[in-house]
Amino acid sequence: MCGIVGVIGAADAAPRIIEGLKRLEYRGYDSAGLATLVNGGFDLRRAAGKLSGLEELVNQRPVSGALGIGHTRWATHGAPNESNAHPHATARVAVVHNGIIENFQTLRDELAAEGHEFATDTEVVPQLIHFFLKTGLTPAEATARALKRLEGAFALGIIFAGEHDVLIGARRGAPLAVGHGEGEMFLASDAMALAPFTRRVSYLEEGDWVVLEHTGATVRDAEDRVVEREIKLTEHDGEAVGKENYRHFMHKEIHEQPAVIGDTLNAYVNPTSGAISLPDLPFALEDVSRVSITACGTSYYAGLVARYWIESLAGVPVEIDVSSEFRYRTPPLAEGGVALFISQSGETADTLAALRFAKEKGQHIVAVVNVPESTMAREADIMLPTHAGPEIGVASTKAFTTQLVTLACFALALARAKGAVDAEREAALTHALAEVPARAADVLAHDERIRGLAESLTHAKTVLYIGRGSGYPVAMEGALKLKEIS
Ligand code: GLU
Repeated sequence: MCGIVGVIGAADAAPRIIEGLKRLEYRGYDSAGLATLVNGGFDLRRAAGKLSGLEELVNQRPVSGALGIGHTRWATHGAPNESNAHPHATARVAVVHNGIIENFQTLRDELAAEGHEFATDTEVVPQLIHFFLKTGLTPAEATARALKRLEGAFALGIIFAGEHDVLIGARRGAPLAVGHGEGEMFLASDAMALAPFTRRVSYLEEGDWVVLEHTGATVRDAEDRVVEREIKLTEHDGEAVGKENYRHFMHKEIHEQPAVIGDTLNAYVNPTSGAISLPDLPFALEDVSRVSITACGTSYYAGLVARYWIESLAGVPVEIDVSSEFRYRTPPLAEGGVALFISQSGETADTLAALRFAKEKGQHIVAVVNVPESTMAREADIMLPTHAGPEIGVASTKAFTTQLVTLACFALALARAKGAVDAEREAALTHALAEVPARAADVLAHDERIRGLAESLTHAKTVLYIGRGSGYPVAMEGALKLKEIS
């Protein structure tokens, strides 16, 4: 899923859309595009490849208009080329879309009867809304009707020909945030993209859709009832997260580890007593007889490490699942069990679905996430933030190590509550944890030597990572890193 930015503003939208999209570039994408409303009609620019290509195109052929939507696409259906880049538009509707319309084939067959041709799943959305507009519905009514026909996990940004004061957003299974400016409103798939424009942000909840006007927003839930979504002040400032002197974001984030591991420890360890303090939990740790952990990828490996810690320190059995499989084995979950979900973004679709499943089954939900405003953080009973700061690199680094620190603190708190660890041993272990930032800095001081080693491996056809005990999942995480990066 890629990036959406929408602007209903006082100044030209195109440069602002591009600025917002730049802040979402880290997610990876294959093409980009934008559409603005000029004299009631759409002005569209799309380009395959980098955002700089779109920027160049807009420089050559400037676009005016204070209302617009933009997108960075990661193709799921249809080739990654200019004509499949978003926005997709009819004469009356232009749409940007993250995610997948699962029932696009059914809709395509229905709409094909109207004579349209389709190359992607997205195109059914503007066609469908257009179809309802033709029946005399307003933009909001037509969108509401179309949303009821769409299946899948997606977020949408929609504008309408001749409607200079309407920008519609919809969220189902993919995040969408609303930015509240002064006489201007914004829409983005990640609040980070809104930072140059406003810090006042509200987050759409599952199934919500929103009609933005210059002066405000009306949010409706999946049943079309008007609902209030709280406006929060984000921590992101207008500065884009920069690479500083590092060659790339992953390099920078690897080097941030000593600092952010320290931040995480500060959040959970009392430096004088050496005791762990977790946020107030809605259940008693001493009553916990079983923990289930669910996560994907790197977070799953962090969970595997935590299993060794929880079982050996607290003597509490741990079950762990890859999120995508969790729901499908319909696990029997004893009422009142503790279910821990780990995700850097707090938006990982499979992990979120597993969280909701566990919640329905009466579990106490603990989310270990890096983004406190995320859906998982909001839907959990308790959030344990990892304090890693924004992770821009696609391969997770500092998020993994701060997850480990958070999980170590959770394991220790549980061990103490279960009487498996006394205050003295707890202090000894937190003292050892407190050394981690310095040890990490020692390792990073060998950057040049590590670079030499990496170069000596460039021509290797196979690399084996070997580990035992908690080193086994760390070995798997190492192997994952090399696979992702190569
Ligand atoms: N499924 C859509 C497409 O392939 C959107 C993909 C995305 O999230 O960028 O065009």
